Amino acid sequence: MNITVTKPFVPPFGEFQTYLQGVWEREWFTNNGPLVNELELKLKEKLDVDHLLFLSNGTIALQIAIRALDLQGEIITTPFSYVATTSSIVWERCKPVMVDIDVDTLNIDPSKIEQAITPKTTAILATHVFGNPCDVEAIELVAKKYGLSVIYDAAHAFGTRYKERSLLAYGDIATCSFHATKLFHTIEGGAVTTSNPEILKNMAMMRNFGHSSLTEFGGVGVNGKNSEVHAAMGLTNLKYLEDILAVRKELCDYYKSSLTDLPIVFQKIAPDTEYNNAYFPVIFESEAMLLHVIEALNLNNVYPRRYFYPSLSELPYVHDQSSPISEDISRRILCLPLYHTLSREEVDMICRLVKRSIRY
Ligand SMILES: *Cc1c(COP(=O)(O)O)cnc(C)c1O
Repeated sequence: MNITVTKPFVPPFGEFQTYLQGVWEREWFTNNGPLVNELELKLKEKLDVDHLLFLSNGTIALQIAIRALDLQGEIITTPFSYVATTSSIVWERCKPVMVDIDVDTLNIDPSKIEQAITPKTTAILATHVFGNPCDVEAIELVAKKYGLSVIYDAAHAFGTRYKERSLLAYGDIATCSFHATKLFHTIEGGAVTTSNPEILKNMAMMRNFGHSSLTEFGGVGVNGKNSEVHAAMGLTNLKYLEDILAVRKELCDYYKSSLTDLPIVFQKIAPDTEYNNAYFPVIFESEAMLLHVIEALNLNNVYPRRYFYPSLSELPYVHDQSSPISEDISRRILCLPLYHTLSREEVDMICRLVKRSIRY
């Protein structure tokens, strides 16, 4: 069987079915049903955040976040992330302004933010790359100084804690993805979290066509709701969160101990972090070496992924925003397979192939 970069967590079917039984009995499939409410409550508890809305995916979460803060003009963002981070800014008719990343953490470099601020800047939208916390203190300082909003794309951050708080508790809004490939998933799904009740009210209205009551509209909205069936998957999977986190940690530690003394660099995780091990990225010395490794792995039915390539500064709709560090890292970084059912023997094989193909 193929070893892919990720596989969805598959819970016992019977447990999912038990939730579905209730959905069938109630004949209530969507529109803020009891399972959506239960999932939101449990996620709030688990993630220790004040407010959370369950949405249809992580991209609509970004779009609603940008809208709820009424952002216009320029948004400072990172060139090293999944395309949705940048495309959502452009989709909302704002201009993404790329600030290059830190070569060690792979997150936006806060020391370069100030020089990118113009009178048109309204916000900072940064990604906690691979679940590694951004320098949230430095970002908050510069945001406060210039009166900017802060949104975190926390699509990878589920389960990471920074300074004893959930990483989703930082920023004016954090957005999350519960896509099947993510550490915690609802098949398709996402969320926004905030501690600000006004922003929450706005986002709740926007999620539901702008309804403020059955017969009244408080503003323009979109359909960002998610269903009872997706919430059922989330409730089923949530029971396995500790187990998922433990298995990933063990696999990542094992990868690291098997890939020592090689010309390979790992992402540097921020201090004071309980890391979720969402991904296992490795940075090679050159793109040639990376391509060589991919070829060797593919020949053995192992399919890693080039996350993130290309650098978002090179998107066809992003102009003149050269980000040399992000562009360089993008060419040399590879995410090795990491999922709940990956075995140590498979990690052994992958590491053997990596070692052999870089001729160590
Ligand atoms: C997955 C992902 C998204 C998009 O989430 P979807 O739920 O797939 O829409 C956004 N940003 C980042 C960084 C992601 O990895």
